[in-house]
Formats: sequence, C-alpha cells, structure tokens
Amino acid sequence: MDLGIKGKKALVCAASKGLGRACAMSLAREGVNVTILARGQDALEQTAAELRRFGVEVTAVAADVTTPAGRAAAHAACPDPDILVNNAGGPPPGDFRNWSREDWIRALDANMLTPIELIKATVDTMIARRFGRIVNITSGAVKHPIPHLGLSNGARAGLTGFVAGLARQTVAHNVTINNLLPGFFETDRNLTTMTAMAKSRGISMEEMKAERVQSIPAHRQGIPSEFGDLCAYVCSAQAGFITGQNLLIDGGAYPGTL
Ligand code: NAP
Repeated sequence: MDLGIKGKKALVCAASKGLGRACAMSLAREGVNVTILARGQDALEQTAAELRRFGVEVTAVAADVTTPAGRAAAHAACPDPDILVNNAGGPPPGDFRNWSREDWIRALDANMLTPIELIKATVDTMIARRFGRIVNITSGAVKHPIPHLGLSNGARAGLTGFVAGLARQTVAHNVTINNLLPGFFETDRNLTTMTAMAKSRGISMEEMKAERVQSIPAHRQGIPSEFGDLCAYVCSAQAGFITGQNLLIDGGAYPGTL
C-alpha cells in the first residue's frame, strides 16, 4: 500500500534509538525526508547514515528537545514539517514522596510541555497547507498507570488531555493529532527499566524477562519496527479521518474491553 507521503518532510524527535528511530525508519522507507533529533552525536550519525540508504534527505540535529535552544535548533533545521513525531526520554521511576517540585517540572517539560511547544510552532503552517500529521509517542501507562512511574503517568495524562481538545480543532484542515501508546518494546529504555526492577526485586534479568513476557498475551515484547510502521500509517494520506486517538500497541497487555 502506497501511503501517499513520498516527498513530505518529517521532524522526528528523540530518534537516534528505539521507538523514535523506528518511526524515522518507517517514514524514510515511504520516501519521507526526515530531520532527526537526539543529544548524543554518535548514535545520531549512525542512524542518519542508515536512513540515507532509503534515498531520502536526512538532517541530523544534535540537541536536547526539552530545552528552548534544542527546539529552536530543530525548528531551524526543519521549519515547516508536514509530519511531526514528538518523543523524548521518559522520566525516572521512583516513589512520589521523594519527588520535589523540580522533578515534576522536569517531567512536565519533557513529556507534556515540549510536545505542546513543538505543536504550537508547526501546526499553523500545516493548517495553511491543508496537510499535517502529528504523532506523540506517549505510553500504555496513559491507560493503565504503572505505579512506580508516577512522573510519567502524570505528565503524559496532561499531554493527552490537551491533545484531545486540539485534535478536534485541526482535523477539518486535514491536520490530525494522535498519540501512540507503546506497551513493552525491545529498546534501551526498556532494558534500563527492567534492569532496575530486577535489581530492586533481587531477581535475575532472565527471570525478569520471563515474567514480563508471560504477562503479555502475545508472549513476547514488541519489535520497534512494528511501532514505526504504525506511526507511518497514522502519518499516511489515508489516515486523515483518524484524530484525537490513543492507539495502544502492546500485544494485548491492556486488559480492558475498550
Ligand atoms: P530509548 O531506546 O532509550 O531511546 C530514546 C531516544 O531518545 C534516544 O535516541 C535518545 O538519544 C533520545 N532522547 C532522549 N532524551 C532526549 C532529549 N531530551 N532530547 C533529544 N533526544 C532525546 O527509548 P524508547 O524505549 O524508544 O522510549 C521512547 C519513549 O517511549 C520514552 O518516552 C519512553 O518512556 C516511552 N515508552 C517506551 C516503552 C518501551 O517499552 N520501550 C514503553 C512505554 C513508553 P540521546 O540519549 O542521545 O538523546
């Protein structure tokens, strides 16, 4: 299926590794020119080189998307994207009793206010061109909160509420805004979280992994390319009637009917 986005421009944040990288890969495979952002230069350049194999234009920006300077650098490199994929590292786990106001502000900055700022900077030109696809990478925790990830549960809920309102205002102009909610995917972030959990429970990584996989009805973790391909579809020309949605991709882990 031709997704009808060849030649479009995408800004993909936090995209040198993991889910952001997978989104950039799937978009590039569809012929989308991509600007990717991450802090570390080495992984960024490596991903950029892999993306160029698809024959598209690739710009790599080494910057922290959660800072005004980082967002300005992204905007300068890709001022009028047709597609915006919002992503950043997730906040650390912990007990809310130990979190200060500064910890909360950091989480809100990264996982709520940064995507809102980037939407603000790009949505009006998308509206003027009558095409725009905005995808926010959030978390399955939006639907079933993870107790030790309270900073993430809270910040992402704020973004989700904001998007629910805005997405209904932009869709008449063929600009959609949707959230993708990953369950457990095989990425660096996931490995770090599992290592910390295994340590805190005094079990081995093998035991931790086996337990995790058993808890997922698919009996496996997600592969980043599965996530990237969903992102590419949500960004497709055909997906103009999908907006304001929270699309879970979690191998059946969320136990609810709806
Ligand atoms: P990952 O494998 O650790 O990759 C994170 C990517 O984001 C890297 O390229 C990293 O590069 C970049 N990045 C992180 N902070 C950044 C910043 N401030 N500015 C620019 N780039 C930044 O993580 P992931 O598993 O793909 O997770 C992506 C998001 O999905 C996170 O918010 C995570 O909480 C959420 N999530 C993931 C899972 C899962 O199972 N993987 C499940 C639920 C939710 P640099 O470090 O070099 O900047």
